[in-house]
Amino acid sequence: MIDSREIARNNLSSAGYQMMIGGAWTNSSKTFAVNNPATGQHLTDVPDASAQDVRAAIDSASKALPSWSTMPAPSRGAILRKIAALLMERQERLATVMTLEQGKPLAEARGEIAFTASFFAWYAGEAERIYGQSIPASVPNKRLMVILQPVGVCAMITPWNFPAAMLARKLAPALAAGCTVVAKPAEQTPLSAMEIAAVCADAGLPSGVFNLITTNDPGMFSDQIYADTRVRKVSFTGSTEVGKMLLRRSADHVKRVSLELGGNAPFIVFDDASLDAALAGAIASKYRNNGQTCVCANRIFVQRGIYEKFADAFTAKVKDLHVGNGLDAATIIGPLINAEAFDKVQRHVADATKNGARVLTGGAAFEQAGLKGAFWTPTVLANARADMMVAREETFGPVAPLIPFESEEEVIRLANDTQYGLAAYFYTRDYARVIRVSEALEYGIIGANDALPAVAQAPFGGYKESGLGRESGSVGMDAYLEVKYISIGL
Ligand code: NAP
Repeated sequence: MIDSREIARNNLSSAGYQMMIGGAWTNSSKTFAVNNPATGQHLTDVPDASAQDVRAAIDSASKALPSWSTMPAPSRGAILRKIAALLMERQERLATVMTLEQGKPLAEARGEIAFTASFFAWYAGEAERIYGQSIPASVPNKRLMVILQPVGVCAMITPWNFPAAMLARKLAPALAAGCTVVAKPAEQTPLSAMEIAAVCADAGLPSGVFNLITTNDPGMFSDQIYADTRVRKVSFTGSTEVGKMLLRRSADHVKRVSLELGGNAPFIVFDDASLDAALAGAIASKYRNNGQTCVCANRIFVQRGIYEKFADAFTAKVKDLHVGNGLDAATIIGPLINAEAFDKVQRHVADATKNGARVLTGGAAFEQAGLKGAFWTPTVLANARADMMVAREETFGPVAPLIPFESEEEVIRLANDTQYGLAAYFYTRDYARVIRVSEALEYGIIGANDALPAVAQAPFGGYKESGLGRESGSVGMDAYLEVKYISIGL
């Protein structure tokens, strides 16, 4: 186990945590602080990039593109495999850094590092399968073929809730495709991305292929990447609001854009579900990362026949969830990321109770000596309704509104009545219903008797305002490849 004070002091290089530009650890004239959300402890300062730094990163990515994109695909794949192996070798260190800057329990952070490594391992294989096509011509004196080529320099912007995995889900396919990258992590959690940059360098990724910029002025970063026509693609994971703004800006130079945005996941428990499986699934989906995931259950619909039984058993389990510092092995629920996140949770609970929901457990801040962060007691609300704020907006906190329903038709209508369409879950033992409901839900990811469906080899992304395009899986490569058709006259 790495000592947390050691991480805070030790950093990556003798000069501390820095940006990676053109293969060199790089400082900037200004810095900003990274703090532990569980304790308020100051961890370290990181560079606050200037516009010039971003331009230097784009220059490096642009210069590195010709050799990286023409390197034989199996050689690129071999480097990705080394990255995956090194991530696992450093799992304990990286998990500790993540818990310190993000707050999630150490066991979840370890899981996220393994998930992060799985993207590099899986896309190492995909690098070797960038197949084109040979198409039968309509005339004898022509040959038609299609080849796939890397899009070019890609900009990546990632959120704080999965500081390693959200970057890996973009970076691994981009590198496999032969693209070069300029990435900007969220300002609350830059250290995990810097650790990944160190792993990439140590695994032999050539200089300039992956450049990392840190700043607390994200508008400056987007101004630079949108002004530069060498940046051919922007891949973003974060809020729908910022995603829409980036989509509008992408029009100017018709930059390719991929968006992984917010969600409002329904979690449906039918009368015929296995109660134990539904309970375990609801706890995992709702409370993982303290409810701060884009795919977490935001509305729990429970059919009338099982409602009381489910509510009682679920509440008993939620009361057992240990709240604390993520470095403490007993902790299941860490802090919220900041005071704004806390305010949103408080607003949603207040609105629900004012409008008739009943608090079965929680419903208030969590306080304990030594914990200075924004902690909220895991909360269950009975008799919630689909029109409450807590069910209309993404809460992003440990609050479970239980909403009763009568029929399959009714719950499908309620579940689809949102502008979001990322993930949806349901529990039933009826396999005809599994197919029927899976087909009827307007969501990009369906967990049928499965609360944790995300894996490197399957597509991840949303319908409606939850995003554009897909990450992961073989379709995740498409985002980083251009299609070139070649017609050859004989
Ligand atoms: P956010 O405020 O949109 O921030 C996400 C990233 O965008 C951060 O790096 C942020 O930088 C940056 N950003 C903010 N304003 C920008 C601008 N004007 N130009 C360029 N970049 C800008 O979202 P968040 O609060 O960090 O993350 C939570 C949201 O992400 C939730 O809605 C969640 O559902 C969504 N999410 C979606 C997925 C998915 O796969 N669909 C996965 C995880 C999270 P700063 O940190 O400097 O503000």
